[in-house]
Amino acid sequence: MRAMVLKAVGAPLALEDLPLPTPGPGEVLLKVEACGVCRTDQHIADGELPPPRLPLVLGHQVVGRAVALGEGVEGVSLGQRLGAGWLGGACGTCKYCRRGQENLCRQAAFTGYHRDGGYAEYLVARAAFAYPLPEEWPPEALAPWLCAGLIGYRAYRLVQDRQVLGFYGFGAAAHLLLQVAKHQGKRVYAFVRPGDEAAKGFALELGAAWAGDSTEAPPEPLEGALLFAPVGALVPKALADTEPGGVVVLAGIHMSPIPEMPYRLLWEERVLRSVANLTREDARAFLEIAPQVPVRAAVETFPLEEANRALEALRQGRLRGAAVLLP
Ligand SMILES: [Zn+2]
Ligand SMILES: [Zn+2]
Repeated sequence: MRAMVLKAVGAPLALEDLPLPTPGPGEVLLKVEACGVCRTDQHIADGELPPPRLPLVLGHQVVGRAVALGEGVEGVSLGQRLGAGWLGGACGTCKYCRRGQENLCRQAAFTGYHRDGGYAEYLVARAAFAYPLPEEWPPEALAPWLCAGLIGYRAYRLVQDRQVLGFYGFGAAAHLLLQVAKHQGKRVYAFVRPGDEAAKGFALELGAAWAGDSTEAPPEPLEGALLFAPVGALVPKALADTEPGGVVVLAGIHMSPIPEMPYRLLWEERVLRSVANLTREDARAFLEIAPQVPVRAAVETFPLEEANRALEALRQGRLRGAAVLLP
């Protein structure tokens, strides 16, 4: 099968012909229909998030069809459309797994990180960690749901009871979550890279109540803030934009250093917290609400072979919405 392989950190992915993987017990072989390109993939390729092994196939927003089942797989039929996301497996027995925090499991295996991912024609996923997806949608429309949507939704759930929200960084996750927030009657203010008029226009088109540079103050104090941009300098800014008792959620897996800040920005019971990975419960909840909204991803598709071009577009902030690879 063709795959785009990371062989060295900082090097472009290489197109290779790999043997077709075989599903082991509890696993399913998926023929990839589409795979989203995530900021995390870029962090792994660039070494900000060091890959646990090389060579490695990236990609954890995979829409595929089951074409072979390993021993003991139940509840999956051949030909069924399934999604494979970042959480590729968890131990099920540790204290985190037992208390509903499998996202923090120390034995968790992440797709496109510990397990080979979807920048390929096929991948093997654990059936218990693959999600049934709607059959009638085009695959490229669903791929961004699987990380931008799922992990974005985990972050969003932490501020869900708030009505006035700020989204910092208006990329793949923000443009999906804005649609959910609008559907739930919330007001969203979008902060973009200073001077990025295209991103402002995009946010306003999707229903943001206001869009401005990340250096600007919002029209009113925020009740909740979601930081999607991997920019530590935005942390004190988001706290300053947030009212007493407000929540600032850091949604990324990697962020540049957070600058020193005065305690008064955090005081008055503002809450600052990160989000790591996702649980299957987050996935279930998002996949239930997304078709109802319905969450429509703006995508730019690239042939699998052009994964490097897609990553470069992401690096340079040139994407409108999400990049998706089609094998
Ligand atoms: Zn565990
Ligand atoms: Zn991701």
